[in-house]
Amino acid sequence: MKIKRRKVAKKILKTYTSHFGFSEPYKLLIDGTFAKRALDNKVRIDDQVKNYFGKNIKLYTTECVINELTVLGKQLYGALCICKKMEIYDCGHKGSKMAKGCLKHIIEKGNEDKFFIATNDKQVSSFANSIPGTPLVYIVGNTIVLDKPSENTSKAAEADLRAATDLTTHEQKILKQIRMEEKKIAPVLHKRKVIKGPNPLSMKKKSTAKEAKTGAKPAEEGESSKNGNKKSKKRRVKLSAHAKMAVLAKMKELTA
Ligand SMILES: [Zn+2]
Repeated sequence: MKIKRRKVAKKILKTYTSHFGFSEPYKLLIDGTFAKRALDNKVRIDDQVKNYFGKNIKLYTTECVINELTVLGKQLYGALCICKKMEIYDCGHKGSKMAKGCLKHIIEKGNEDKFFIATNDKQVSSFANSIPGTPLVYIVGNTIVLDKPSENTSKAAEADLRAATDLTTHEQKILKQIRMEEKKIAPVLHKRKVIKGPNPLSMKKKSTAKEAKTGAKPAEEGESSKNGNKKSKKRRVKLSAHAKMAVLAKMKELTA
C-alpha cells in the first residue's frame, strides 16, 4: 500500500516538475490547520514528507500563520510550536493577514516560489484547485497525502504537452514549403538515375556492329544472329505498317 502510494506521488510530482517549473529542493508551505492536524493525529511531518519528496525538501510557514496561531492562544499552542520550527517565508504581509488570506494571496500571485501548499483548510484547498499548477498537500488520518492534480492543473499540463509537441502554424507553413521543395527536387534525381542506369549506347554499338557484319537490320538483344534475323524480319513488317501501306499504294499505282 505504501509503495503504491509513493509511486502515485512520484507521478503527481512529475506533473509539477514537467509542466509547472517545480524543482528540487521542493518547498512545502504549511499553515496552522495542517500543523494542528499533524499534532492531533500524531503525524511526524518531517519523516512523512521525506517519504514523498525525498530528503531535498524545505518546510516553510509565514509570519501571518504564526501571528494567527499566537492570537488564537492555548488551543493552538502545539500547532504554533510546530510552525515555529519552520523557516519563515517572506509573504510580504508582515503578519497583517489571516492565514487563509495569506496563502490565497501567495497562490493568487502565481505561487512564484513554487510551494506545495500544505493545508487542511477547505477554503484554501478549493482556491488552490482553481489555480492551475498549484499542488496541494493535506493530512487524512495519520497520513500525509499529495493531492492528485486538480482538473484545472491537468488541463493546463495537457495544453503544455501539446504546445511542446505540436507545431505552430508558422512552423507548419515552413514544413509545407520544405515538402514542396522536396517534390521539385525528386524528379530531377529520378531523371539522373535514368540516365545513369541503363547502357543504351553500348547496346546500339553492338547491334550496329552486327548489322555491319551480317548486313541485316538490328537483331534482338542477346539473340543469335540467325534467330535475330528471323524475328527482326517479322517485326519489321509489324513496325513498318505505314510503310507497308505506302508500298501497297505504290504497287497499285504500278499495276494500274
Ligand atoms: Zn502573509
